[in-house]
Amino acid sequence: MAKYTGPRCRLCRREMMKLFLKGTRCYTEKCGVSRRTFPPGQHGQQRGAKLSNYGLQLREKQKVKRIYGIMERQFRRYFAIAAKSKGVTGKVLLQQLERRLDNVLFRLCFAMSHMQARQLVRHGAVYVNGRRVNIPSFSVEEGDMIEIKGREGARKIIKANIELSKDRGVAPWLEGDLENLKGKVLRLPDRDDIQMPIQEQLIVELYSK
Ligand code: SF4
Repeated sequence: MAKYTGPRCRLCRREMMKLFLKGTRCYTEKCGVSRRTFPPGQHGQQRGAKLSNYGLQLREKQKVKRIYGIMERQFRRYFAIAAKSKGVTGKVLLQQLERRLDNVLFRLCFAMSHMQARQLVRHGAVYVNGRRVNIPSFSVEEGDMIEIKGREGARKIIKANIELSKDRGVAPWLEGDLENLKGKVLRLPDRDDIQMPIQEQLIVELYSK
């Protein structure tokens, strides 16, 4: 699967917000957004022209893709499913992204970034309802039990992650047993559970052209 390999702090600076793409560094003063409060590039420090409507829509889509670490093709697939659903398209789109297993690990504070969460899943450390799941895009359901199993070394890293990222807190739609590295999906995420500043309507407008 294609993946972005360029500087990750640049992506955060482009969106002018912390996207937590680098792990431990994101929680320190070395964070790129804290150190340089202007967009990247030659003209980053100049006051840019006002973005067009299309520009705003495009930025919003890029931001959401970057938050969840998703490439264009997969994002479009999520949008197509949301557009066909009976619910509000933008809300369903965000719900699908939130329900991804890698995101659930991030929201449980088991991982410092979505990328690290994805690695945990791919390496076979994550079990859902007692069965190993190694697909980061796996969509959790209400009542699912998530558990980390594996070598002591990996468990130590996850416990350190929990300690470092505990200020973020566990998402309200999840329940975390942080001592035993277990979690439960209490209910499916609602729009209000997604605290990031996202205007999903702009994405719907972009794709509906
Ligand atoms: Fe983004 Fe983390 Fe870099 Fe800060 S340190 S700019 S949150 S990737």
